[in-house]
Amino acid sequence: MATYKTSNRMKTRLVIVMAAIVIGGGLIDTAKLIEAGVINHSKFAAMANDNQFGSTTVKAARGSIYSADGKILAQSSTVYNIIIAPGTITNGSLPTDKRDEQIKTLTAILSEELGDKLSVGANELPDYFYNKDTASKKWIKVASKVGKPEWDKIKQRAKDSELAANLVYAEQDTTRYYPQGSMAAAVIGFTNYEGDGIYGVEKYYNDNLAGVDGKIISARDGYGNDLPYDEGETYQAKDGDSLYLTIDTTLQYWVEQELDNCVYVNNVQERACAIIMNAKTGAILAMASSPGFDLNNRGEILSSKSQKELEAYKEENPDDEEGYNQLYAQLREAQWKNKAVTEPYEPGSVFKVITASAALEETAITEESTFVCNGGIHVIDKDLKCWTKGDHGTQNLQQAMTNSCNPAFVQIGQRLGIEKFQQYYKAFGFTEKTGIDLPGESQ
Ligand SMILES: [Zn+2]
Repeated sequence: MATYKTSNRMKTRLVIVMAAIVIGGGLIDTAKLIEAGVINHSKFAAMANDNQFGSTTVKAARGSIYSADGKILAQSSTVYNIIIAPGTITNGSLPTDKRDEQIKTLTAILSEELGDKLSVGANELPDYFYNKDTASKKWIKVASKVGKPEWDKIKQRAKDSELAANLVYAEQDTTRYYPQGSMAAAVIGFTNYEGDGIYGVEKYYNDNLAGVDGKIISARDGYGNDLPYDEGETYQAKDGDSLYLTIDTTLQYWVEQELDNCVYVNNVQERACAIIMNAKTGAILAMASSPGFDLNNRGEILSSKSQKELEAYKEENPDDEEGYNQLYAQLREAQWKNKAVTEPYEPGSVFKVITASAALEETAITEESTFVCNGGIHVIDKDLKCWTKGDHGTQNLQQAMTNSCNPAFVQIGQRLGIEKFQQYYKAFGFTEKTGIDLPGESQ
């Protein structure tokens, strides 16, 4: 090799293909949304605060994440935030007894349909109507991320009970679901409650996945009713793009099975990780850390070592709830980490491949060269041992590789020389980060 730019340089790059779902007219939509969302933000915010105007957010749908074989790994679904508007019946438009009846009926419907999901107790709900600080408000959120069946039922009962229009209404929101559970959890990562990606590709590609929310600005009359449609303006949401990973779910499944088994059999203490890469393209076909976690229930600690640690802490410090919670948070964070990316790896015998290829390239050795193993070798002031109890005797290159013989590879390194060894070490990219498209890569 004349230069040190290797053609088969092992850049581990997770090649992720961005699939732009929205193509046509994208530029125009974007320009418009930037106008509505950024440039005129303060104007619309002021309008939304004005009682003359109602403003409803149109949530952009977050893009899905797919595997290379087309399986859905992450998906968003629509949920509803339940909003009450005391101002619609506290403005003197209803006689007091009718108003009180509406409050009572609304409280009954919401507490029966929402139960624990209600953000305040059912007996505190009427306070919003009788407390002067909240009585005239048109937007008070009383429940978050409620399913469509529940909202439909509330809507129907409100209609049947002849509750005032818009006394209770819903705003669309989204929730993230991971159909494959724990599969590739550390690669996929997840979103926080607000829907922003905070781990894995959910974080790395958050801007592409998120899209841009839209808004409906509508003028309302003095009673809070929407005025005819042409008095208001609609800014459509721009949905997020979807991601296609190079991860293949069949390979990923088997890697995770084998890794879990390996951790169990060898009683591994500090987690294990594995990667399957297409060596020609750098595409990551599988990447796993074990023990892993369930994306849909990520607070649960799956590592039996961590579980024992928590139990022991509780036993020794039965009254220290704060300390327990701190330890729990720390262990939970640890299990979310993608070990294959965030922790340095000491290559050990794997590095023999690099030493051999450099020596072959420089013709410091050939396939026919022989190396002698006496069970150890003396280098400067150190005695290095072979891993075997006996010795490997005389070996050619293939045998030395098969035996993973330490003295043989010391001899190969010596024939290559320090300077050349360093040049190849650099040329293979070991002094740089890989630039993988996952957050938190270690040196
Ligand atoms: Zn040996």
